[in-house]
Amino acid sequence: MLSLENVHVSYGPIKAIKGISLQIDEGEMVALIGANGAGKSTTLKAIAGIEPIESGEIRFNGQNISNLPYNKTSNLGITLVPEGRQLFPDMTVKENLEMGYKKSRKGACLLELLEKVYEYFPDVYTKRNELASSLSGGQQQMVAIGRGIMSEPKLLMFDEPSLGLSPVLVQNVVKIIRTLHEKGHSILLVEQNANMALKIANRGYVLEMGRIVLEDQAHSLLKNEEIKAAYLGL
Ligand code: ATP
Repeated sequence: MLSLENVHVSYGPIKAIKGISLQIDEGEMVALIGANGAGKSTTLKAIAGIEPIESGEIRFNGQNISNLPYNKTSNLGITLVPEGRQLFPDMTVKENLEMGYKKSRKGACLLELLEKVYEYFPDVYTKRNELASSLSGGQQQMVAIGRGIMSEPKLLMFDEPSLGLSPVLVQNVVKIIRTLHEKGHSILLVEQNANMALKIANRGYVLEMGRIVLEDQAHSLLKNEEIKAAYLGL
């Protein structure tokens, strides 16, 4: 479904990604783990078309999408739930959700999708007419995921969805991501919480200083001694 071949991304003189190759098959959940600054967010932004790639190739369902802007990649079915939620604080929860809706795409109508999101997140329904800025961090994360669902994505990419959440809310997020996966969405999950990510993913890639240093089934990575020491705090 998605493949990256030798992708490079730089911010001026800073080489953030140095030749990444990875792939995600239809229906798979893949985790991308790594320390701060390893290049995880940059990888997601490059796929989405938010950061330009210098070289290499990104393909989605057979189409070369390298450097296609986000409004085009999202029309093809790629959605990024960004780190830090990035909601519009002065808009209501419902208005934020509506921002994810793509009129131009064939599929469910706006109301059907809103109902789907409210089914996933009853709390979001309760708060639908309140300003996004008035919500707690956990509620904002639910709205950000809900906004992603509104675009009916084929590939959902999550950037640190558990960041700053209490253990109970992390479990909530895990449940939602699992459900979305079961419903057929392919998922690319970026997490510093490697333990959580590898427990729910099918496969994982380990990123260090802009390079992929390891790739394996998620359950094998969980048992890998180097991974345990470096990323699982064991
Ligand atoms: P984090 O978990 O801290 O977000 P990450 O693995 O997602 O880390 P990136 O955010 O992709 O890493 O950053 C990769 C490298 O690129 C780092 O060295 C970072 O400092 C640098 N970088 C990221 N964004 C920018 C930017 N807008 N301008 C300059 N350098 C950047």
